[in-house]
Amino acid sequence: MQGMIMRSTGSWYEIITDQKEIFKGRLPGKFKLKNFKVTNPIAVGDYVDFTIENTAERTVIIEKIHPRENYMIRKSVHKTGHGHMIAANIDQSILVVTLVLPRTSLGFIDRFLVSCEAFRIPAVLVFNKTDLYDEALYTYQQDLVDIYEGLGYKCILTSVQTGQGIEDFKNILKNKKSLISGHSGVGKSSLINLIAPDLELKTGDISDFSLKGKHTTTFAEMFELEPDTYIIDTPGIKELGIFDMEEEEISHYFPEMRELLGHCRFHNCKHFNEPGCSIVQQVEKGKIALSRYESYLSMLTNEDSRR
Ligand code: GDP
Repeated sequence: MQGMIMRSTGSWYEIITDQKEIFKGRLPGKFKLKNFKVTNPIAVGDYVDFTIENTAERTVIIEKIHPRENYMIRKSVHKTGHGHMIAANIDQSILVVTLVLPRTSLGFIDRFLVSCEAFRIPAVLVFNKTDLYDEALYTYQQDLVDIYEGLGYKCILTSVQTGQGIEDFKNILKNKKSLISGHSGVGKSSLINLIAPDLELKTGDISDFSLKGKHTTTFAEMFELEPDTYIIDTPGIKELGIFDMEEEEISHYFPEMRELLGHCRFHNCKHFNEPGCSIVQQVEKGKIALSRYESYLSMLTNEDSRR
């Protein structure tokens, strides 16, 4: 039989089939970790083949993991040098941000987008809490939307308070598997609650976005909002990652820089202070947003963000 992993506890995996049957699966011994560079060989979103172990208890043995279209890994929380698979076969990665309470930094947004580019996952930015903006913030938000849409990232403006953009948010999730991330307090649970009240996600100033009454885990979980529409909750996304990325690689994941690569005077140009750098020229001309270039530089020089 075949199914998709919805959540895991480390040793058990919840599997859903096309017929919406739920099974509890485990891995046979042959999947021991030594062959993997990750702490968990199976991720939420993986498609697996399995055989029934116990019909009454609905337990199954996972026999095979299908090849992944894509996946996201973050650095292991246990500092073992291993990565931790967050999720696989993701259609899009949505970052919820706000310009107020709490303000999301542009550096964080850009690091997130670089991760999405590196993992080849389409990214969407949701700017929430627009009801709290004054005119200056509104103008600033529009400037940001122009920058990010100009780079090909879809942007949605939402307010849980006024209902602005909620239909757009709902539509963008439809029939897809979406990873949803964002700092605590930006309104992820409120947005999801509005479009899927039955899920009863916690809201408030709590740090994690998870089902009521459940303890928080380091594992991602998938929720079905409606048939074939899934969201993946990702605890601890601050560590999301561009670890293991070489300095030269970073500019490849900035679409506006990628198209200029090879045009600099030096083939190993880091686009920092070298003469004849085509990227610096575009920044000076205002063709590349200064904030994006600053994010690039911070990733180049900040060892921490690359580990
Ligand atoms: P999460 O941590 O990202 O899941 O954020 P929550 O959904 O728990 O929201 C954090 C706080 O922000 C709660 O007090 C919400 O009521 C509030 N909030 C969420 N969205 C909005 C919004 O669009 N406008 C305003 N004014 N408050 C919001």
